Formats: sequence, structure tokens, C-alpha cells
Amino acid sequence: MFQFTPFYAFNALFKMSYPSIYRWDTADIKLYITKAILIYKMYLTTRVKIAEGGEEREALREAGNICTKIWNKANYYCREQWEQTGKIPSYYELQRVFKDDFWCRKLHSHTAQAVLHKLAESYQSWYKLKKTDPKAHPPGFRKKNSISTIAFTNFAVRVEDHRLRLTLTKGKHIWLDYQVQPGVEITQGNIVRVEITNGYSNIVYRVEEPEPKKKGQVMAIDLGIINTATTVKEDGEAKIYSGKGVLSIQRYFNKEIAKLQSIVMNQSGGKKKWSRQLSELSRKRRRQIKHALHALTRSIVEDCVKSNVKEVVIGDLRNIRKGKRWNKKSSQKLHAWGFKQFTELLRYKLALEGIRLVTVNEKSTSKMCSRCGYVDRYNRKKRGWFKCRKCGYEENADINAAINILKKYLHQTGRPVEGSSGVVNAPRVIRWDGNIPSEPDARQFIGG
Ligand SMILES: [Zn+2]
Repeated sequence: MFQFTPFYAFNALFKMSYPSIYRWDTADIKLYITKAILIYKMYLTTRVKIAEGGEEREALREAGNICTKIWNKANYYCREQWEQTGKIPSYYELQRVFKDDFWCRKLHSHTAQAVLHKLAESYQSWYKLKKTDPKAHPPGFRKKNSISTIAFTNFAVRVEDHRLRLTLTKGKHIWLDYQVQPGVEITQGNIVRVEITNGYSNIVYRVEEPEPKKKGQVMAIDLGIINTATTVKEDGEAKIYSGKGVLSIQRYFNKEIAKLQSIVMNQSGGKKKWSRQLSELSRKRRRQIKHALHALTRSIVEDCVKSNVKEVVIGDLRNIRKGKRWNKKSSQKLHAWGFKQFTELLRYKLALEGIRLVTVNEKSTSKMCSRCGYVDRYNRKKRGWFKCRKCGYEENADINAAINILKKYLHQTGRPVEGSSGVVNAPRVIRWDGNIPSEPDARQFIGG
């Protein structure tokens, strides 16, 4: 007899949202939380580089090119149908028409279907867009030799001894090594799919999210440039996480990009502003910053676990661009992106420990005195130091801001601010300069 349990409820939900699953275009780790009744599941993506020059890489290139061929062939069919009938074929129609196609049969059926699915989806969105924008172009053809993204569903993936066996086609497999962070595991039961794109494999898997902690203290985080993160806990301990790592990566790549940019400009007589090498450099920059943010968030989460934190509160990022604290354009650019990354990474790492991440409006947290509440933009003095013009309270400006965020949140949730759990006005400060290891393939850039 069919029993209705939360597990089935979740499965039903998962199936309902299945069609959109190929719209996956994340660069590294992205968080997907599905909340069904009583059950928390989370999707994580682990990104692994596929070694260059190996057999696997070659086989995947070939499969990626077959995906291109399927895309183009099916796209040709769609265009034809559109011109002849004024209708766009559905995914099911494509699946039926291309079931025995020469190229489709060279791949695992699900891998070929994923291409058709994506194409059908692209036509759908073009169809919708066309209503408001008559000039919109239908999905284009891909260059003959290009390598498309390849998707392997869990039917084409086996997990064995911490390796993945991907089925390219009947009887043809390749093996992939992977690493996941401590505490999580990829199994046959939780793997969702693997996508290969640009020489990387994105492994998507489900993990169960522990129930949110009910007991514990609150930690507030203030984000900044000189100090990427400054944390203050209810027990009065403050930690300053230096921004040196992120800043030096940023500085290094900015310089290299500017250098290369002027070369490109000169060589093209001012016509060209961008090149493939330049996008490669900016990709490397993003990757390294993300790497540094991984290390940083990991160490914050470790601290949370050690000191029994149940909630972490952070300033609302939507206001960060408007904030007066970011006056340089370049740092705005870095931080609009960096902070978003930071929050995403922090959120999922905390979630794995059952710790909630909440936001409060950051407004005037940097101008307000955390002791007496006096707000004055001249309170904040130079070189990251805060001095209240009313009561004379002095503190590191980022710690002062973090205390304000903490107090604001405690006040909103009706918890006692002063007193036994009292936020200390003279916090114990610990500095963390961050031992940030660089990626092996990126080291030459850092050093050079
Ligand atoms: Zn004051």
C-alpha cells in the first residue's frame, strides 16, 4: 500500500522541479535547498579539474563535440518546424524524432536527452521573449568543432571507492577522481548528476541538512576590505580576519590584466579591448579569490562549531553598494561580487552544521557608537579606528560595527542585549591572517 511519508513528499517535489535541472550553470559550489515538509535537503556541487592530456579528457572532448552535433542537428529540425508550421517542437517531440539518431546513439541516452532538453528549453524561452521583443533571435547553431557541456544523470554514473565511473556509451566508461570537504560524502544514493564543461566536472549531490540548532549563542559578522570579516560573539570574543589574502590576489591580477590590456589595445590599434588571454586571467582571479574565501569561511565555521554558535548574523548585502564605506570604485566592484560569494559559501557551510545565517539591515552600523548608540559620521576616524564623539568610547571600527550588528539582531529578536549574555564592550580580540594555500595551477601567477 502506498504510504504518504515526508520522503515521498520530497521525492514528488523533486520530480516536479526536475525539468529545470539542466539549467545548471554554476561555476563552483552553489546551494540549492529544497524544503519539503519536515525535511531539509540541500544540493551541493563539487568542482573538479580534469587532468589535461589524459585519455579521459580526450574522450570527454569527443563526447562534448557529439553533443554539439546533436544540438545543431536538432536545432535545424526546430527551425524547419518553426518555419513550416509556426510551432516549436516540444522536448518530447525531439526525443521521439531523435531517438534513433546516429549521433544520439553514440552517447548514453540520458546524455543525449539532456542536450535535447536544453534545446527545447531555449526555444521555449525564445518563444516567450519574442512576444515582447520581436527582434529576439532563436537559439543559435554552435561552431562545428566546439565542445558542448555534457551531462551525466545518476543512471550514467557509478560511485566506487571515491571515484566516479561515467558511462559515455554502452560499454565505454571513464573514471574521475574527486575530493569533497570533510563531513560530506558522495554515494550512489545521493549523487544527482555530473556535468562536464570547460575541462571541469561539476558533481552535483544531495546532502541532508541537519536540523537548525535551537541552543547556543549568536555571532555577528561585519564585512570589509582591509579586514574581510570581523566577528563578534555574545560571549564577547572578537576575531579579525585579515583581507590581505584577497587583496593581494586582487592587486596582482589587476596589474596583470591592465598590462595585458594595454598590449591588446596597442596591437589592435585601439580597436580590441578584450582577448581570450584576458578572460582567462579574470577567470583565474575569480577562482583564486573564491579559493581564499573558502579558506576564510571554513575557519569561521570551525570557530562557530567550537564555541557553540547557533545563529550567525550578517549585514544585508543589498545595501552594501550604497554604503559610504566603499568609496573606491574598484573595491566596490570586488566586494559586490566577493561578498556575495562569501555569503553563499558561508551559508551552506553553516547549514551543514545546523547553524542559521540571518541578515539585518546594515544601516548606520559603522557610524553608530556600540556603547551609547550615538550616530555621527565623524565617529569613524581614519585607519579603521572608531571614536565616539559623545561618550569617548574607542574601538577598532570593524569590531564596533560588528557589535552593532549583533545588538541590532538581539534587539529585533527580543533577546537581552546587556546583562548576563551582555555583549562586551571591551572584546577579546584574536587576529587571523589566514594561511591561504593557492591552487597548484595558479601558483605561478601568485609568485610571478
Ligand atoms: Zn558613545
